[in-house]
Amino acid sequence: MGIRLYNTSTRKLENFRPAGKVVKIYTCGPTVYSEPHIGNFAAYAYWDFLVRTLKANGLKVKRVLNLTDVGHLVSDGDTGDDKLEKGAMREGISVWEVAERYIKRYLDYYGEMEFLPADVVARATDYIDEDIKAVDLMTSHGYTYETSDGVYFDTSKFPGYADFAKLNLSGLQAGARVEFSDEKKNAADFAVWKFIRPSEQHEMRWDYLGRPGYPGWHLECSSIIHKELGEPIDIHTGGVDHIPVHHTNEIAETYAAYGRELSRFWLHCDFITIDGQKISKSLGNTYSLDDLKARGFLPMDYKMWLLSGHYQGTRNFTFESLAAAKQRRLNWRNRIAECYQKDVAHDDGVFEKILEAVNNNLNSAEACAIIEQSNLSLDDWKKVDELFGLKLIKDTPDVDSEIYDLLRERQTAREARDFTKSDEIRDKLLTRGIAIRDTADGAIWQYAE
Ligand code: AMP
Ligand code: ZN
Repeated sequence: MGIRLYNTSTRKLENFRPAGKVVKIYTCGPTVYSEPHIGNFAAYAYWDFLVRTLKANGLKVKRVLNLTDVGHLVSDGDTGDDKLEKGAMREGISVWEVAERYIKRYLDYYGEMEFLPADVVARATDYIDEDIKAVDLMTSHGYTYETSDGVYFDTSKFPGYADFAKLNLSGLQAGARVEFSDEKKNAADFAVWKFIRPSEQHEMRWDYLGRPGYPGWHLECSSIIHKELGEPIDIHTGGVDHIPVHHTNEIAETYAAYGRELSRFWLHCDFITIDGQKISKSLGNTYSLDDLKARGFLPMDYKMWLLSGHYQGTRNFTFESLAAAKQRRLNWRNRIAECYQKDVAHDDGVFEKILEAVNNNLNSAEACAIIEQSNLSLDDWKKVDELFGLKLIKDTPDVDSEIYDLLRERQTAREARDFTKSDEIRDKLLTRGIAIRDTADGAIWQYAE
């Protein structure tokens, strides 16, 4: 059947094949200005699953992830505070230190979530020369105009501007989607470059057109893609919130600068809510992965929770459903542990069925159902672990040598009817997360976490 993906630009499920030998993927990454909450990791977990699915199909992937470490304004338009400046003020450090601090946080968390590392992790501040070249190109092609506060993209020059997000430009209210200023020619026009006024506090600055300034926030993605992958790429990913402004503007900029389509496929994931409400500081529900850990849940439990649903659905997070995901993960590990300890009867072709499910627009929920309903061989479990990236097996061999020594010791103690020692060993194993179950066939171990 091959791989089918829902393409936002056509609003259809389409057969997917890369245009060249390698699947070129770009993921809009985080703005690194504050502690990430669990919602921020949803997209990266889904796109990690996308890459793993493509690889399970034998495809080669080149994936680029950007880190927005430069002037990204709080609003989607071109006004409001700069997020990094806000972070610097809040924490009493420089914007550069804010970026360093949160880049490290994100990359550490990515490791804990077992995300496959991107082939290129691109920091926006490393692409300023490309940004400037792109603005020059857009200008030479007649797509921009200058105002007192920046260089703006004239959306009326790009006839397909409204198509991607199906925007109703004539009904666009000033201030509703983007801020309107007297100097803007059309309400939808956006800054590709912002000037810094003498009175303005803005630490990150580069000289262009004889004055200090910084790039508009959509530009970094067009520039990074142009340099690292080349248009058109095969798949561009992001959250649904990126459709009306950020991705619409990336498409326009790439077309204006290079005369090319940006991406063949566009994938967008929906938002997660917590207890039915949006994630927000004022509601006190901006849980981080560390907050989950403090409540006894590993990042892998959260990943299992995410993959138990579909990337296009609005997901509602509760701690009860997270507990169910944790239970599922432990159950899968115990099934694997059992496979390591004895010959378990298995069904044929289970992984092929799982792959067929996920090839249908990344239906990880359906894959989970198949895993629940089938008996998997150890070989199938290894493939499942690779596909889901849940570290189900990765830890098992580490545990193996240690626990088998203890298991043997315990068996010897039991045979010598030294139950005090055998209980001691049981307790010791328990502190290592291993529970012993005595069965008619002898003792078997399970993960006790
Ligand atoms: P923020 O830093 O809050 O603007 O979030 C950065 C990105 O994380 C957004 O553009 C979204 O794509 C994603 N994101 C934020 N909140 C959520 C959520 N509740 N569910 C899923 N993704 C989210
Ligand atoms: Zn982007």
